[in-house]
Amino acid sequence: MMDAVAGTVVGRLAPSPTGVLHVGNARSLLWAWLSVRAAGGRVLLRIEDLLPGAPAHLASMLSDLLWLGLDWDEPDEGTLGSMDPGELLPAAGGRPAVVLQSARSELYIEVMGKLVDAGLVYPCVCTRKDIALASRAPHAEDKGRAYPGTCRGRFAGEGAAIRWEGAQALRLERRRLGCALRIRVPSETIRFSDRICGPQAVHLPSDSGDFVVRKKDGHYAYMFAVVVDDLAMGVTEVIRGDDLLDCTGQQIALYDAILTHGGLSGGIPTWSHVPLVLGDDGRRLAKRNRSIHVQQLAADGVDPARLRRWLAESMGLPATGDLDALVDAAREGIPAAGSRQPVTFVPELLRG
Ligand SMILES: [Zn+2]
Repeated sequence: MMDAVAGTVVGRLAPSPTGVLHVGNARSLLWAWLSVRAAGGRVLLRIEDLLPGAPAHLASMLSDLLWLGLDWDEPDEGTLGSMDPGELLPAAGGRPAVVLQSARSELYIEVMGKLVDAGLVYPCVCTRKDIALASRAPHAEDKGRAYPGTCRGRFAGEGAAIRWEGAQALRLERRRLGCALRIRVPSETIRFSDRICGPQAVHLPSDSGDFVVRKKDGHYAYMFAVVVDDLAMGVTEVIRGDDLLDCTGQQIALYDAILTHGGLSGGIPTWSHVPLVLGDDGRRLAKRNRSIHVQQLAADGVDPARLRRWLAESMGLPATGDLDALVDAAREGIPAAGSRQPVTFVPELLRG
């Protein structure tokens, strides 16, 4: 499935700035980068810094990427939130612009306004407790609890009233209204094919229910911002860690809503969810374990080519840290894409 625009592949590196990068993040990023470079496409760098407190990590995240040797391309001229990376990290100066989500709220407000006008998004004043009581799932885990739709039509049951509530919420963007915004999910099962994980089916009414697209505190939900950005930036392929496989159905529902009513054009990207990297204890890598931080490896004097070589091998590519050679090899595809097996990382492999 190629993008309609001259068949150009557009991918993005979107490292989370909420913590330092670890080897597992590095693997997903290298995978995403190789896939686009092998296809002769464009790589954009977007920093998902919507969470409060994120900026503290921006500079270290950028230096991690530079250390890994991953480059990126200039976003289209006039892309909202474009920033000279030298402002975040002097050593990154002179490179193509990065895109900061925190500087893109104008666009999020505009798209959200259209979804509100179309009656697809409504205000929700439920507390956690309300939702727990209404869903009658006394001891179920939060994660498995679908929102029962209490506030669908709660404000008079008329489109006009819902639109009014939504418009108020948007106008008072910066103020605490005590009201979240939720999107109506489609009743049909959403089906998509993941290039690594295979065919998927998600029934959102029972999986998540109508989900939050803007939180009570006025922050946009991660998923909403990501879908708006990927559409606006023309992203054609999404390659990321498989911890995000579960929210892909919600993102597809958002694509449908935004393409139909949100005023953005484009298409749904292809999806590849890269298996996790496990530590030698057999558990998923934990951010608190410093020995797997890219930053720590750099501080310990590990040769980045050595990490790239390990990452490449773990993807079934030739054991080399040479990026040009890896791009060449990746033109035949990334062999590990045929398997959902997690890989195990042993830090000692990179040392001595
Ligand atoms: Zn509610």
